[in-house]
Order: sequence, then C-alpha cells, then structure tokens
Amino acid sequence: MTLGILGGGQLARMLCLDARRMGFRTVVWSGTPTAEPTVGVADLVIMKGFDNEAARAEFCDQVDVATVEFENIPLETLREVEEAVGLYPSAESIGISQHRSREKTFLKENGIPCAPFALVNSLEELQAAYAELGPTTVLKTAAFGYDGKGQVKITAADQVEAAWESVQGEPSVLEGFVDFKCEVSVLVARDEAGRCLAFPVAENEHRHHILDLTIVPARVSDETRKEAEETAIRLAEKLNYRGLLAVEFFVEQSGRVLVNEMAPRPHNSGHFTMNGCVTSQFEQQLRAVCGLPLGSSELLGETVMLNLLGDMWNPELKEAEIFATEGAKLHLYGKKNPSGRRKLGHVNLVGGSSVEERARALKEKLLS
Ligand code: AMP
Repeated sequence: MTLGILGGGQLARMLCLDARRMGFRTVVWSGTPTAEPTVGVADLVIMKGFDNEAARAEFCDQVDVATVEFENIPLETLREVEEAVGLYPSAESIGISQHRSREKTFLKENGIPCAPFALVNSLEELQAAYAELGPTTVLKTAAFGYDGKGQVKITAADQVEAAWESVQGEPSVLEGFVDFKCEVSVLVARDEAGRCLAFPVAENEHRHHILDLTIVPARVSDETRKEAEETAIRLAEKLNYRGLLAVEFFVEQSGRVLVNEMAPRPHNSGHFTMNGCVTSQFEQQLRAVCGLPLGSSELLGETVMLNLLGDMWNPELKEAEIFATEGAKLHLYGKKNPSGRRKLGHVNLVGGSSVEERARALKEKLLS
C-alpha cells in the first residue's frame, strides 16, 4: 500500500519513517521546489507547486490514499485529491482549520468552549469588538501561515488603530486575553468506524512564541485532564473526523479548559509519543488514514520533549551533550540551514527519575 502525503516538512519525514518501518510506500508532494526533510526518506518526492496539474496527476496515480502534514494547502487541491484517491482528514475538516474565523465559528456553533472572540473586517468592527472584549485582547489574522506574525496584543483603546494597521486590514479575529494557568494539548485519533482514542494530555511551554518543552503527563487535576480529553474527542466527532487531530487548550485558573486552536495533523506537542507511548502519533495517523485498527496510546513513563531550534545548535559540540544525557533520544529533521527560530529537531527524555530536571539542564547547556 502507498500512502500519499501533502507537504514535505519534518512531520512528513517522521510519518515516512514510521510508514517505512511498517512496510508502506510513501509519496510526498511538497508543494515547493525543495523538501529537505523528506528527500531520501520518502520513496518518491514530487517537488512541484500545489497548482501544478502534472504533479497532481503523478501524485494521484501513485498513491492508494492521501493525508496532509500541514493545513495550508489550496482547498481546490485538497478536493481534487480527495475525489481521486480519498483524503483523510477530509478537505472539509482541513478547510475549517485553515482559517481562524471558520475554526472559531465552528467551535462556537458546536458548543465547544473557547476564548471569547469577534470576527473583524474593518477598523470600525475592531473598535466595537474591543469595547466588548477589552481591556486586554489579542488580534490575530484569520488566515494562518504567518509564523508568529499577524498577532498583536491590545491592552488600551489608543492601541486599536495601530493594531489594525499592523494586520494590514486583513480579516481578523479579536480574542479576549485568557489569564491561563498553563497550556495543554491533546492528540486524538479517530478511525474509519468512528472509534476515538486520545493520547495522554501534554503540558506545553513556549519560548519566543514557539513550543519549547512538552511535559507528559501534564501537571493538571484529573478533572482538567478528563475535560481536555473529552473536549478533543467531542471535537473530532463533531467534525466527523478521520485521522489524527491536535487540539491546543488554555487551562484557566479555575481548571476549566478553553480550546485555543486545532491542527488537522500530527503536532509538535505530540512528538513525545515517539519514545513515550506504545504507538507514536505518526503511526496512529497512518493507522487511521489507511483503515487499520488504532494502536495503544498508553504512556510508558514520564516523558519530556525539548525542541531544538536553530539558536541551540552547533553539531560538533552539542550532539555530545545530548548523547551524554541519560534517556535522551535525538530526532533530527535533515535541515541544512540552521537559522535562529527554525525547528531542527527535538529530544525526547524518557526513563529514570527527574526527567524534567534533566531536560531543563540539557536545554541550558544547549543554549549556552
Ligand atoms: P496561537 O498562535 O493562537 O496558538 O497563539 C500563540 C500563543 O500566544 C499561545 O500559545 C498563547 O501562549 C498566546 N495566546 C494566544 N491567544 C491568547 C489569548 N486569547 N489569551 C492569552 N494568550 C494567548
């Protein structure tokens, strides 16, 4: 069986590695002229734009079923692939999560708790929404793919105009600021028959707005854990989803959870599963997409994932630090240009005592 993957980044790479281990062929259609992480890992990499018809024909001819490793793929391409070979998750589910405004509206319409918000398409609408949701709010452009850009905090009415200018008049969403205790995420898989299985709730810490550490199990109450899992499963059911879905939450001071956003694919905060769980998130995606039974999501022991960004990397010096750390498993993405914020790989720390302490100590060494 051949699995087709739209997108050629690190998530596709790790899916290809699991697929190969399990005897599946993989074909990646990167949508870009380069796809470093998947070259030499997928059986075939088609490095052409998503609007290239010859590339679509080549991709669809070669694969039995398709999935995505990122959501910003033209809806038309998704629909064509869906019709030709089958696409999981569906073009409709991916379409919802491509756009913050569609996603928020879907959450609201389905009674899934999220931060209070308003859709804004003009300065006047933003002013009215700010009067309702202020004083502390976050303005986010509706279209994704801005890499941390397109987000601005507004804390006073006299900042509204400048904030609107900073998003350059793009359709946006204004959100009330959530005074959260911590951020957690749940990866949930839903199979062909509608059976859902969640991975253990993960707690996430960020650095420069990029995921830094994932700590599992999350240090939250049993009620919060249960609420996060049940909400993620409810969301997958409401979407009539098939595949792997990542749901990020804010945990309020009260312990209640609010959905921040979702991703229709494996997620950086699920990398801990590669060494921490019986089944990795990539194997689970493959199982759900290819119509196999889901694998156990049982946690094998406390696990911490440390992201390796460009500013932490110097191969000669730093690999040695990682290999010398007890229980550290290195995963690199095959990227050649290590710039400051680029995700180059991650380390999972498993086994032994004080996993979190070891992860934090390793991080400090890599940053120094
Ligand atoms: P996002 O790209 O929407 O996931 O936002 C990135 C990060 O900004 C989140 O992980 C939070 O740490 C922070 N953030 C985003 N929206 C809010 C909000 N409404 N209230 C508080 N913090 C937020």
